[in-house]
Amino acid sequence: MSMEYETVIGLEVHCQLKTNTKVWCSCDADYDNKHPNTSACPVCTGQPGALPKLNEKVLDYAIKAALALGCEINEESQFDRKNYFYPDSPKNYQITQYFKPYAENGTLKITTNSGKEAVVGIERIQIEEDTAKSIHTTSETLLNYNRASVPLIEIISKPEIKNAEEAYAYLNTLKDRLKYTKVSDVSMELGSLRCDANVSVRKKGEKELGTRTETKNLNSFKAVMRAIEYETNRQIEVIENGGRVVQETRLWDEENAVTKPMRSKEEAMDYRYFPEPDLLPLELSDEFIAEARTKIPELPIEKRIRYLNEYKLSEDDARILTTDRELSEYFDELNSLTWDPKKSCSYITTILLALMNESENTKKISDLKFELKQLARVIELVNSDELSSTNSKQVVEELFMNWWDADIIVDENNLRQ
Ligand code: ZN
Ligand code: MN
Repeated sequence: MSMEYETVIGLEVHCQLKTNTKVWCSCDADYDNKHPNTSACPVCTGQPGALPKLNEKVLDYAIKAALALGCEINEESQFDRKNYFYPDSPKNYQITQYFKPYAENGTLKITTNSGKEAVVGIERIQIEEDTAKSIHTTSETLLNYNRASVPLIEIISKPEIKNAEEAYAYLNTLKDRLKYTKVSDVSMELGSLRCDANVSVRKKGEKELGTRTETKNLNSFKAVMRAIEYETNRQIEVIENGGRVVQETRLWDEENAVTKPMRSKEEAMDYRYFPEPDLLPLELSDEFIAEARTKIPELPIEKRIRYLNEYKLSEDDARILTTDRELSEYFDELNSLTWDPKKSCSYITTILLALMNESENTKKISDLKFELKQLARVIELVNSDELSSTNSKQVVEELFMNWWDADIIVDENNLRQ
């Protein structure tokens, strides 16, 4: 990339909320595990006279997500119609929050893989509904309305991301935080996390933003990074050749690693947004928001800092333990029994995770069959010199395979010293 230019990136992330039912009706939201078009009703297909009603669980999850991303919750917000004509929305509009979203002004501290720190603002988060799933075959397009009106939140960053590496760190931080709140699967593969990238370039020192393009169809974090790099270089080349960047929506073509024009970008005007007449404005009391705040778990960054400061764990260990909420809770529980954070950590990171890595069917903490207190007992035996730390590894392996009692394993193998 030419040194005279800088890139300005904003990311729009759609995150599916994992509620049992859809956002405006009681249809099952588990759209993929049902026969196509069996989980749809007059409300989610927008039949005349059918009225939407906000699923309270959606509001609960959306607020948890927003608080975990450091956003302010608006006491008043409203739903709006975004009008467009496309078969994936039988209503001809999407219910979203345009004029006043429920959450705004978040900040996300990020650390890139090369160790650079940055802060990325979150402009707003809006509650909205998913569309039907379109399946394009060579001759036709099939529609599955099971996904219509499955709840989404759209998280819109400020245009404060400077390069692909920061975009990657932003997405990872966002994903980790959302995962901790358990409101979503946050899986790009499963489609519960989707990302569009707004990219523009400008000469360094210029104040005004350059014309931006929006790239869609980014199916992995890696695709996001590659598309950002591609768009940056493409736009600089257009400008250097005396041309002008066209404001448009582009599609990422994974196979050829290029972006291709899809359609010239609609202006907000084209959507003819107007307040949704069938839903009341959303009013949340101070107490309601304060109550929601108390339910937010300790999040990865805070937890990591606690592990570093209180337990003096290494940066690497603290990161490994906190990336997965279940794993960090397992560590916390083990440590509450052993009062030995260093050993609790090392038995998990060096022995247990290695065993899980090699195992076929025990991949997650929740798959473990032996009792946690047995692992605590192994550490206790080592600390009281009844078991050597070399032999303790064998005991943990047996616990892992046969879910037995630590003392019995020690005695049967004549390991007690
Ligand atoms: Zn329905
Ligand atoms: Mn959206």
